[in-house]
Amino acid sequence: MANKRDLRDDPEVVKKMALLLSQGASMLEQTCPVCGLPLFKTKKGEVICAVHGRVYLVASEEEAKEVEIDEALKGVEYYVSTKLREKMLKDETDEVEDLLRIIDLIERIRALREDRSKIDKQGRSSA
Ligand SMILES: [Zn+2]
Repeated sequence: MANKRDLRDDPEVVKKMALLLSQGASMLEQTCPVCGLPLFKTKKGEVICAVHGRVYLVASEEEAKEVEIDEALKGVEYYVSTKLREKMLKDETDEVEDLLRIIDLIERIRALREDRSKIDKQGRSSA
């Protein structure tokens, strides 16, 4: 398991950061809510972490938690999908239905959460 300090010294991460800079991105004062590395703003205005790709800057602790939940959901989805593939490759059909149901649930939760954050943003901009 790599910790935050290792990531900063990881040649791959350093290479990605250098690439972002060479593409005209600027380093921000803010750090990635997931790994704590400095974030970059691309010419297009996207905020990017060298490890996690596009991230969303969070203004509050509550938002930071929301991001964490999103990451966790993604993690679970990844785990279940991998598990499902394994099962299918081995021709084990016993748990496939359960796994599919979990994926379906996660997708629904994510869709709901996306809708909600859209509404949040609209509410804030019109206020
Ligand atoms: Zn990150």
